[in-house]
Amino acid sequence: MNSENPIRVRFAPSPTGFLHVGNVRTALFNWLLAGRHGGTFVLRIEDTDAARSEPRYERQLVEDLAWLGLDWTEGIDRGGEYGPYRQTDRYDLYRRYAGRLVGEDRAYRCFCSAAELEETRRLQLERKETPRYEGKCRHLPPEEIRERVDRGDPFTLRLRVRPGTVGFDDLVFGRIEIETAQVSDPVLVRSDGSPTYNFSCVVDDLLMRISHVVRGDGHLSNTHRQVLIYEALGAEPPRFAHLSTILGPDGQKLSKRHGATSIEDFRRRGYLPEALVNYLALLGWSPPVDGQEILALEEIRAQFDLGRVQKSPAIFDTAKLDWMNRTWINRTPGTELLAAARPFFAAAGLLPDAPSPAVDAWAGRVIDLVKTHVDHLDQLPEAAGVVYGPDAAGIDPDARAALAAPEGREVALDFVRRVEGEGALTPEGYRRIVGEVKAATGRKGRHLYHPIRAVLTGQGSGPDLETLVPLCDEGARLPLPHPVLSPAARARRILEAV
Ligand code: GLU
Repeated sequence: MNSENPIRVRFAPSPTGFLHVGNVRTALFNWLLAGRHGGTFVLRIEDTDAARSEPRYERQLVEDLAWLGLDWTEGIDRGGEYGPYRQTDRYDLYRRYAGRLVGEDRAYRCFCSAAELEETRRLQLERKETPRYEGKCRHLPPEEIRERVDRGDPFTLRLRVRPGTVGFDDLVFGRIEIETAQVSDPVLVRSDGSPTYNFSCVVDDLLMRISHVVRGDGHLSNTHRQVLIYEALGAEPPRFAHLSTILGPDGQKLSKRHGATSIEDFRRRGYLPEALVNYLALLGWSPPVDGQEILALEEIRAQFDLGRVQKSPAIFDTAKLDWMNRTWINRTPGTELLAAARPFFAAAGLLPDAPSPAVDAWAGRVIDLVKTHVDHLDQLPEAAGVVYGPDAAGIDPDARAALAAPEGREVALDFVRRVEGEGALTPEGYRRIVGEVKAATGRKGRHLYHPIRAVLTGQGSGPDLETLVPLCDEGARLPLPHPVLSPAARARRILEAV
């Protein structure tokens, strides 16, 4: 981890679907490792699966990473010394390395057809054996190979796996060693000339001088094959760190069944990127100081260490994520939350789509008033209903009772009369009026405030009235797609409804 051995890590997604929490945690841990050591975080696109790769997924993942704040310094859209960074732009390189392996007899041509291989596999499974390539084309005589190549028979290239054991020291899982017999000669290049994942991944990690490969533990069995490919290329493999699978609360692999899993879903539901990265960092990693939970990305980066990554599976707990999101929402000023919250308000018809200084300053204060009641931003418009004004259905029994009682009604009517005689209702004006109602009616404490709250909000409890009332008053004078009822107007509407 010095200048001679800089940390170079990569996130290498396949653009075959939306980024989900598992991929993003992988991206995050790579980003943290690079950031902690002043290293380089490379974004490489593994798009060799032509049938399933789509440009829209690549666009989306770039957007998701940017939204989460996981910026890369080298890779697609950025360039760098070791590009290109999209695998379909690197086929010449794979061909060159494949040619070298064949030339050195470390790889060989396999002419077995897909149907033949499938039949062998079926028989092996029937015999309860682990399916593996039996090595039919391992030792074809050179003349036969030439003849078949000349004839145009399709072939794949397979690695000639040596006998013995193969292993690596995983930074999370420790030493993992297996008999190479368990790895049947892996295909490096398909019959259509495209490289397999294991081959392109090794060529790229090698040429891009990747120092640490951090990825999901679903790739553990690939790693043995990759180590053998490095060996065949006469190269030293990078260090490996595999991250344990993320499970749902039921102990099953996290999937759509468990609710939102794609980053796009989380964004659409109003989770903050700060909360998501905070939560994902703690899925499998823990800070050296016990009990620290709410951490900003920079704070996590300053402490991140692969040595504190656990190998037992992490459980994705939505309730915990919601708690973190709530905490981050409450730590963030309303005016800052507004950018992310605006689409939700606009969709509910409560705010204009476009920013406007007067409306935005007011909306920021509305968010500050009601944000303690939400887990995610998509719940804000409903919570803001208290500012926009109640409808008849929104009057709760507690408020009805307060206004039905003669003493309560007297307070409410006196309050409304005074509010109607007032111009703009400032916090001071509101306090003065409450003082006047108190003097005029002789009520105090709950007997005073409860009917006032009831007549203003239709609720028995709710946000601080000294903040709410001026917000309603100002809102009533703003050009909003859904009008805010002034304090006097809402009081009248409520009195009519009870
Ligand atoms: N494209 C692979 C994936 O998305 C990358 C695995 C790796 O990091 O080597 O699973």
